[in-house]
Amino acid sequence: MKAHYGYKDGAGDFFIIIDTDNCIECADHPCIPACPESVLEIIEDDYEDMVCAVTMDHRKKIKYSCAPCKPDRDRPPLLCVTACPKNALEHLW
Ligand code: SF4
Ligand code: SF4
Repeated sequence: MKAHYGYKDGAGDFFIIIDTDNCIECADHPCIPACPESVLEIIEDDYEDMVCAVTMDHRKKIKYSCAPCKPDRDRPPLLCVTACPKNALEHLW
């Protein structure tokens, strides 16, 4: 399942999309320690699988939470995306 976390406003679409099917076989969850802003967490989904999600605290302010990773110029590879061995994370902005 592709889970969308974030919001849309006049400036654009600010969503992190997580392909949670890919998280099921991910034993170490390296995205969690990779995020310096503690945006991500592991939760149990409706099927009792342990999958990645964006924390409730960050869902409504994700543009600002991720801003330190996303400078206007010379944006480096995102730490969470780079850490994920299963290509499960996508950022829409
Ligand atoms: S590292 Fe990737 S596959 Fe593993 S829990 Fe995080 S998002 Fe899911
Ligand atoms: S872009 Fe940075 S702050 Fe946002 S989830 Fe990824 S590692 Fe965390």
